[in-house]
Amino acid sequence: MPMTMPLERNPSLDELTEQAACQFRSVFGHDPTHFAAAPGRVNLIGEHIDYNDGFVLPLAIERYVVIAGRPICDSSEPLIRLFSDPLRSEISFPLRDLVPSSTRDWAKYVAGVMAGYQDRQANLPSIEACIVSSIPLGGGLSSSAALEVAAATLLEQITQTCLEPVEKALLCQRAEHLFAGVPCGIMDQFSSVFGQSNELLLLDCRSQTIEPVPFLFPDWTILVSNSNVKHALTGGEYAQRRDQCDQALHLLNKPSWRDVSMEEIAELSGKHDNVLLRRARHVVGEIVRTQQAAQALGKSDGATLGALMNASHDSLRDDFQVSCDELDVLVDIARTIGPAGGVIGSRMTGGGFGGCTVSLIETSRAEEIATRIRFGYQDRTGIEPTLFVTRPAPGAMPIYRP
Ligand code: ADP
Ligand code: MG
Repeated sequence: MPMTMPLERNPSLDELTEQAACQFRSVFGHDPTHFAAAPGRVNLIGEHIDYNDGFVLPLAIERYVVIAGRPICDSSEPLIRLFSDPLRSEISFPLRDLVPSSTRDWAKYVAGVMAGYQDRQANLPSIEACIVSSIPLGGGLSSSAALEVAAATLLEQITQTCLEPVEKALLCQRAEHLFAGVPCGIMDQFSSVFGQSNELLLLDCRSQTIEPVPFLFPDWTILVSNSNVKHALTGGEYAQRRDQCDQALHLLNKPSWRDVSMEEIAELSGKHDNVLLRRARHVVGEIVRTQQAAQALGKSDGATLGALMNASHDSLRDDFQVSCDELDVLVDIARTIGPAGGVIGSRMTGGGFGGCTVSLIETSRAEEIATRIRFGYQDRTGIEPTLFVTRPAPGAMPIYRP
């Protein structure tokens, strides 16, 4: 029986581009003229605080959405024909007067980006486009932002207009808000636009500025473990958490979470809804932890960084209540391996209720750690996880093929 490898390989950009070109030819019957790629991201620490004026510490990952496209210049009403390879789905819609109801499902993310271009007075021609991806969809690694940012990068080439990077990220965030109906913060789109090889991004979500944090150590690697579960719950958990945070801030009578201290939250204890105070504790604690983590990373202080990542998970599980059994099992196994076995720290990442954990591990022990997590998780849950390692990757880019 073939032995399953514990770690999945990251397909190269060349492979993904080739795949996009082949798929494009088979769907549309001719060659694409333009290519664009945008990475997913994983957040080392700073969860659920990008929409709360906090700090986050993500990196772009070596997983991408790649889009192959071709403008069609004819005199008919402009139209886009999109094919998604992972979903094996084709959707077309007219480009005139784009509104959220102009299209459906996954195409809304792309439609939102195109509407953003039209708001900037860009005249879009008809377009054919084919999307391939190595980012799991809905796994908390931000395939949605990668799709938006890749679409925006393709449009930059087709319309020969370059957006300011901040404007591009914000245009994509707006697409997700207005067209996909997801009130996300700025982390995902900023990570996909601004990612750099060998750097994490300390993103101040209040000032929308980035401080790069070098990640040069060959000895450390980021391990992503996908639980391969996504609990639907009522579906509105994300919006509910956002709403609870707003209510808690109102209760604290502060303009921003950056002005709130743990003492001020403790003073309200017993007088107000305990759930809101727990949400508040997570937000304020996580803002501090994230800044401390960036400092610890700068000093290669693994012990401090690991402790902060672990504390972040505990806070998300107990106070913010967005973890789930499967994520807790992944984290538990990683922590049992611990620093002695090469795991520096481990926590859930992304929105929660399924998706992935992120662990900082020693590079030389990656296979051994992945094997233990894989089989431990399978034993305890009956579910096969998928694991891969990544280093910080560059952000969105056009791809030129000879
Ligand atoms: P995440 O961003 O964490 O992967 P989301 O729920 O925010 O999860 O976004 C996932 C959705 O984004 C998918 O359900 C799909 O609608 C859309 N999407 C992402 N990547 C692709 C793709 N390659 N092709 C089509 N749709 C995609
Ligand atoms: Mg998303």
